[in-house]
Amino acid sequence: RQNERESLFIVLNFAKNFFEDQLLTTEEGQSIGLSYFRERGFNDTTRKKFELGYSPEAWDALAQAALAKGYSAEILEKAGLFIPREGSATGGYDRFRSRVIFPIHSVAGKVIAFGARIMKTDSAAKGHQPKYLNSPETAVYHKSEVLYGIFQAKNAIRQADVCYLVEGYTDVVSLHQAGIENVVASSGTSLTVEQIRLIGRFTPNVTILYDGDAAGLKAALRGLDLVLEEGLNVSIVTFPPGEDPDSYVRLIGTEAFKDYLRKSARDFITFKTTTLLADAGEDPFRKAAVIGEVVGSIVRIPDAIQRQIFFHKIAEMMRVDEQMLISEGNKLLRKQK
Ligand code: ATP
Ligand code: MN
Ligand code: MN
Ligand code: MN
Repeated sequence: RQNERESLFIVLNFAKNFFEDQLLTTEEGQSIGLSYFRERGFNDTTRKKFELGYSPEAWDALAQAALAKGYSAEILEKAGLFIPREGSATGGYDRFRSRVIFPIHSVAGKVIAFGARIMKTDSAAKGHQPKYLNSPETAVYHKSEVLYGIFQAKNAIRQADVCYLVEGYTDVVSLHQAGIENVVASSGTSLTVEQIRLIGRFTPNVTILYDGDAAGLKAALRGLDLVLEEGLNVSIVTFPPGEDPDSYVRLIGTEAFKDYLRKSARDFITFKTTTLLADAGEDPFRKAAVIGEVVGSIVRIPDAIQRQIFFHKIAEMMRVDEQMLISEGNKLLRKQK
């Protein structure tokens, strides 16, 4: 078992070097991959820091290079890099082809998986391929336990004593380039308890920077009760419709972006209340449902003093009796037990 994990790390590292090499030293990689990164505004320092790469269009370029170095098709497959198929020269094909590559690192900095983006979003041209393709679950990659960028961000998270949580690879990379290094991505999935505990190893403070669209908002709300339960302090920043941290920092510049983060961060309970209330309008039944929802979030906070502060704040915001909120909360707490 231990041996297999070690072999996987080695072949994944080989693949990372291969992709980086393809990007920098081949005609195809330079004219397609490198120019894609340049168009997105990623400079060489940023590119190196994240070990970004390029996977060529050929069916089995990586597999051929790896087999020539003595790696087996079996270990390539176990690493999630190779898909076996009867009747082909190398016995299968590369999972990642014609994409720019974002290696995913463990906390300790080992490459454990890859995210890969098509360069044209014109889906007709690409035969309806997904924008991003990721490594499958392997013996060294458990998607639900990993945060993209944690290795590059961990020291900055400790130092700033706050972790910014974004949705995408490019948000992490772009913010680093803007000098904001305490940032990790959930990579489009809803947050898991393992990911939250991972952040908790470095700071109790999380600020969520999700995309300014309905999906981003929903994802933010969905993940958050979990974060509260783990005792982390959660704030949230939303972006104008259609913007994400990557596009927005490029639009308004680093200093204005930092200002924006400072000015628009709201604690999660306030954010949730405002968002749900805006939806409910003046309908008393829906307002009552909002109270239930929000109280349901507050009671997940392990710290009694924090709970008290939020009950007070929400009572004022919603112009309802604080004692009523507290007794609703107590009912919920009893039900949980
Ligand atoms: P870009 O700026 O390159 O379009 P993005 O990060 O803004 O990328 P989003 O559409 O906002 O892309 O998605 C956020 C994240 O969700 C991505 O970075 C990726 O990790 C994940 N994701 C998006 N689309 C897919 C997909 N089709 N399959 C798997 N994961 C995806
Ligand atoms: Mn999005
Ligand atoms: Mn984006
Ligand atoms: Mn996005």
